[in-house]
Amino acid sequence: MSLQKILIVEDEPDMALGLQDNFEYEGYEVVVARDGEEGVQFANAEKPDIIILDVMLPKMSGLDVCRHLRGEGLKTPIIMLTARSQEMDKVIGLEIGADDYVTKPFGIRELLARIRARLRNTSQTNSEIESYSFADISINFKKYQATKSGSPLDLSTREFELLKYLVKHRGEAVTRDQLLDDIWGIEDYPFTRTVDNHISKLRQKIEGDSSNPKYIITVHRIGYKFLG
Ligand code: CA
Repeated sequence: MSLQKILIVEDEPDMALGLQDNFEYEGYEVVVARDGEEGVQFANAEKPDIIILDVMLPKMSGLDVCRHLRGEGLKTPIIMLTARSQEMDKVIGLEIGADDYVTKPFGIRELLARIRARLRNTSQTNSEIESYSFADISINFKKYQATKSGSPLDLSTREFELLKYLVKHRGEAVTRDQLLDDIWGIEDYPFTRTVDNHISKLRQKIEGDSSNPKYIITVHRIGYKFLG
C-alpha cells in the first residue's frame, strides 16, 4: 500500500515544518505549498489524499483556494487552519466546501485525529456497493432497480443515492450536513429541510409504517441512522 499524501498549504515556515515533521513521523508523505497559488497548483499536480489549508496566505487566501478547488470539482478532503480571531472564516470555509477546521493554536494530536477521520470517510465512500437487501427490499444500485416483496419499487435517482449512502454507513448516525455534502454537493445549495423531505418520501416507499420507521431512524438533533 502506498503512503497517503498530505498537502500542507502554509506560509509560516515554522508551522509548515512542524506539521511536516509530525505527519512524516506518523507515516504520511508530505508536500508543502508556501502560498495560495502554489496550493492550487499542488492540489492538482500532486494528487494529495487530504489538504491542510491555512486561511491567511500570500497571493491567494485559503478561502479562495478552497473555493477555487471545489469550483474545479476537486473532492479531496480539506481541513482549514483558522486563527481564533477569524471566527467568520470557519463558517465561510465550511460553506464553500471545506470539510473541517481547526483553530490555531491547536494540538497536533487533535489535527491528526481529524485527518484520520477524514481519510477513513473517503476510503469508505470509495468502496462501491452494488446491491443490498433487507427485510422484503432488494436494491441494485448499479442498475438503479429495486423491488419490495418482489414487485418493482419506484425510487428516484436521489432516493437511490440516499439509500446507498445510508447502507454504506449502516449503524452509524449520519448528519444532515453529511448527506447534503455527499448527495447534493455544494453547488446545489440545498436546504437541510430538503434532506428531511427526501427521507420522508423514502420512508413511505420502504417502511411498512412510515410514521413508525424501523429502518431509517431519526437520531435526535443529529440526523439519521440506517438499521436495515
Ligand atoms: Ca499563514
